[in-house]
Amino acid sequence: MYLYNSATHKKEEFKTHTPGRVEMYTCGPTVYHFAHIGNLRSYIMEDVLEKYLRFAGYDVNRVMNITDVGHLSSDADTGEDKMLKGAKRENKTVMDIAKFYTDAFFDDCRKLNIKTPDVVQPATGCIDEYIKIISKLVDTGYAYLAGGNVYFDSSKLERYYIFNDHDEDDLAVGVREGVEEDSNKRNKNDFVLWFTKSKFEDQALKWDSPWGVGYPGWHIECSGISMKYNGEYLDLHCGGVDNAFPHHTNEIAQSESYLGHPWCPQWFHVHHLNDPAGKMSKSKGEFLTVSLLEEKGYDPLAYRWFCLQSHYRKTLVFTWENLDNAAAAYTKLLNRVAALKPEGDVDQAVFGEYREKFLQQVGNDLNTSMAVTAVFDALKAKTNDATKLAVIGEFDKVLSMSLLEKAAALREKAAQAVQSGGGDYVITGEGDPEIDAKVLARYEAKKAKNFAEADRIRDELKRQGIEVTDVKGGAAWKRL
Ligand SMILES: [Zn+2]
Repeated sequence: MYLYNSATHKKEEFKTHTPGRVEMYTCGPTVYHFAHIGNLRSYIMEDVLEKYLRFAGYDVNRVMNITDVGHLSSDADTGEDKMLKGAKRENKTVMDIAKFYTDAFFDDCRKLNIKTPDVVQPATGCIDEYIKIISKLVDTGYAYLAGGNVYFDSSKLERYYIFNDHDEDDLAVGVREGVEEDSNKRNKNDFVLWFTKSKFEDQALKWDSPWGVGYPGWHIECSGISMKYNGEYLDLHCGGVDNAFPHHTNEIAQSESYLGHPWCPQWFHVHHLNDPAGKMSKSKGEFLTVSLLEEKGYDPLAYRWFCLQSHYRKTLVFTWENLDNAAAAYTKLLNRVAALKPEGDVDQAVFGEYREKFLQQVGNDLNTSMAVTAVFDALKAKTNDATKLAVIGEFDKVLSMSLLEKAAALREKAAQAVQSGGGDYVITGEGDPEIDAKVLARYEAKKAKNFAEADRIRDELKRQGIEVTDVKGGAAWKRL
């Protein structure tokens, strides 16, 4: 596989420390609120990456943290405590908030067909790991105590890694946007490893440490959790592009200072989901969640399909119209797959050829739009339906669009509607499941108020010489 590496700014051949094995780490959510679909874009793309690596034959160990302590509202250690803010807003304890929004996050993931990583670790569960790392950093002079807190000393590094995307102005963001400047810092890029002097008097979660009772900074949790479950050599670190600085920069600084050797060579950053006006913010307009999409009648997988259509390193522009288009395309695709007849033998030569092509195309920097195209190519392949279904099923191991399952359900529904006569919607025709499926899809589209799609299907049927008439409790069709 070739993957763009944000650490080197180049597309490189993907390599691992141990051949055939990928140690993969993903920055998880801060569980103080529902996940925004913009954040979920990152998790969708990381899920596709993990599934692609498995598809390509790697043994993957994927680890993710859950931030339930230590993340302040500015990534540069200033502002309010996000968890405390959530708890105050809802008049609950911090642990209740963490539990509720962790569950909500995984519900969203399930609806989006995002696989749960092999290891999911709440930050509050690894305090000993952080203390071990911080103690060594203090002993070796990479960290210092000031004003009760422990800080990482960025001046001790030959190179404070900044992913090159960031110039001095970007580096000053934390200072500029911070609620207050931290006068304890010796250098502006220093960051907190352990807080004991919390400005939040009601800070709920505290632990004993060699430096006093307190709690860890945000950045240290990812280093601690990754080293615990991935070992000293990480192959691939993933996150949203907004995590690159200062979070990932600081992870690298403390991890490499602690380990005394390079830590993770390969960094994968997913770009933003924006509205047409710029960055999509949680504070203005509708707060876009998976639940909101469902309330508006969308299948969450239509959003996954929308994300797959564009490259992870491009900003994706969200509008309802764009989502409608993706939803219509997805429905259309399912109907086409449903119309395939699962009969006959799979042509292994054709199957192998399509699989290999998919592996090559998608392996070019996780080209998911090529993966989408590959599904349509498979539908048009000069082979039997059984082979097409096998190929599409194989691609769906990476895409996770439930293509075969949903198509089978559609086929089943169409057959039942025709045979039973007692279903909700009865289709009377000449007993052609392909046409029945389309007539049913038209009905489903109308029911979902997707009139454009309903009209499109009607026109498509018309071109096939089929006339559909709505009758009480169903539809009747005939060949003209
Ligand atoms: Zn992280």
